[in-house]
Amino acid sequence: MAKPHKHNTLHKSPKSKETPHNWDLSALFADNEQASQYLATTYKQAKAFQEHYQNTLATLTPKDFYTALLAYEQLIERISRVMTYAFLLFAQDTKKGDIYAQYELKSNEAHSLLVFFELEFCELESKVQQAFIKQAHTHTFYLQTLLQAKPYQLPLSAEQALIATSSVGVNAFSRLFDEHLSALKIGKNKQSEEEVLAELHSPKRKKRKQAQKAFTKSLEDSSPLLCYILNMVRKDVAITTKLRGYPSKEAPRHLSNHITQKSVDSMIDITTKHYHIVQDYYRIKADLMGIKLKDYDRYAPLFSHASTMHYNQAIELVTQTYKGFSKEFGTIVEKALQEGWISSHPMPNKRGGAFSHGSVPSAHPYVLLNWTGNRRDAFTIAHEFGHMIHQELSKKVGTLSHDTPLTTAETASVFGEMLLFDHLKSTLSKQELLPIYAGKLEDIFSTLFRQVVMTNFERAIHSKDGELQIADFDRIWQEENAKMFGKSVELTKNYARWWSYIPHFIHSPFYCYAYSYGQLLVLALFGLYKSGKCKDFVATYTEFLSLGGSKAPSELIKAFGFDIESDRFWEIGMQEVRAMLEEFHSLLHASGYKVRKLKR
Ligand SMILES: [Zn+2]
Repeated sequence: MAKPHKHNTLHKSPKSKETPHNWDLSALFADNEQASQYLATTYKQAKAFQEHYQNTLATLTPKDFYTALLAYEQLIERISRVMTYAFLLFAQDTKKGDIYAQYELKSNEAHSLLVFFELEFCELESKVQQAFIKQAHTHTFYLQTLLQAKPYQLPLSAEQALIATSSVGVNAFSRLFDEHLSALKIGKNKQSEEEVLAELHSPKRKKRKQAQKAFTKSLEDSSPLLCYILNMVRKDVAITTKLRGYPSKEAPRHLSNHITQKSVDSMIDITTKHYHIVQDYYRIKADLMGIKLKDYDRYAPLFSHASTMHYNQAIELVTQTYKGFSKEFGTIVEKALQEGWISSHPMPNKRGGAFSHGSVPSAHPYVLLNWTGNRRDAFTIAHEFGHMIHQELSKKVGTLSHDTPLTTAETASVFGEMLLFDHLKSTLSKQELLPIYAGKLEDIFSTLFRQVVMTNFERAIHSKDGELQIADFDRIWQEENAKMFGKSVELTKNYARWWSYIPHFIHSPFYCYAYSYGQLLVLALFGLYKSGKCKDFVATYTEFLSLGGSKAPSELIKAFGFDIESDRFWEIGMQEVRAMLEEFHSLLHASGYKVRKLKR
């Protein structure tokens, strides 16, 4: 277990020794042996639960139902504990896939004994259901959401047939899509998709242009297949909508996000109306680079300052940031660093990327990082620590109500990034701040505006009947993107084919808008925090996070005096983006850059 470092390391050179953090999994299990025994006991308990309760729910009193619900939750938590342990072992060493698969198989066996519980509850008489819900305490919302899905469920035998054939239905096209794209060898250097897209961030224009050309060529070669797959997904969405009787093709997504069609429509409408913010930014970017921007210049780095950082310095920075916001948040971060919640550095066979796993309420979250020494990595730490704080605070609502829908899942993480950004604003020089501002704005554009462009693209393609041709997809993609960029970025002919590698269109139709939703929510919350108009913001925000997924997002956000059903709510976040762009503009001006005036 890593020791905490309390000393200030701000002035050490990046070459000085870093103090990595490592996981201590003993909060879950001492070893594999203990985990296996625990799982065996869980299986026996699940069997006993099934024997005791199956086909009896209708006869229970509300009090007895609540007892059963808690017992059910306990069993789900036991299974999650084992699966968390297996997942973390695997994330730490991806060569341990076989161990993971073993645990998964046994866990599924235990889980299948419990599946009757939710189904049987949904089949009860409405009067009985309501009586049970009334006495379900923090699990009221969980039970209500089970019922929301019910009108769209098919008879059990039909559901079973769909589950049985799911891996050869649209899911098979999803897998084909993944396998095809990950096998691509792009350009003369035979690069992967990830590697070639990373070159769009190169300071060398020639390199970016080459990457764009090579990637387009590769997509063109695959176009008949990718076009076919997207058409199959369109058909699946149409069939499922009709079969289950959803009011629209996007309705199931809003249902699982716990939000209304009206709220989504108004968010998309407001965002679309503010595309000019994106155009203003890219006009400045073009001026700074002294070129007419083309699509492959979008991600070009603007300032060439060294952006390396020492791990200890980043940890110190993030800790100070959270401490400065709230003592309670600071305490969680310090505990995490001292008690083995963090795995910080890349290791052989360790999984890439970063995440915070909520684990189970009776243990604590685990955060995986892959520190590379880039200043951007400090924002990743702030992001994952935000998730971690959210997960830790919401432990008290229990396993069944712990998880949040995507619409609020990214609140604490993106809010944490804003806190770090704000902290840096008061500590860095103008020169150091410029790239951070540009990075933040471009981040916001990709999570907010770009995701709405994608949703508008999806709305357009799913509104049409019959199969679409490659050229149809090209045209709609180009049209929707051109609305956002206006004349600020020239979209070359090559760019038209870039709809074809976006995984969300295939894996989870109408998923993208939730990112925009979350981003605007955070901007509104952060603006409220900075304005000082909300007297007990920190306490309200802490309570908001502590409730986890135990209430609907609209309900949770009401505590701040916001109404997410109102158009005006989305304007607040938009004003924040605008303000950030204006700050960036003034900063450029003050640093001696010649930039044109902002248009609006
Ligand atoms: Zn996240």
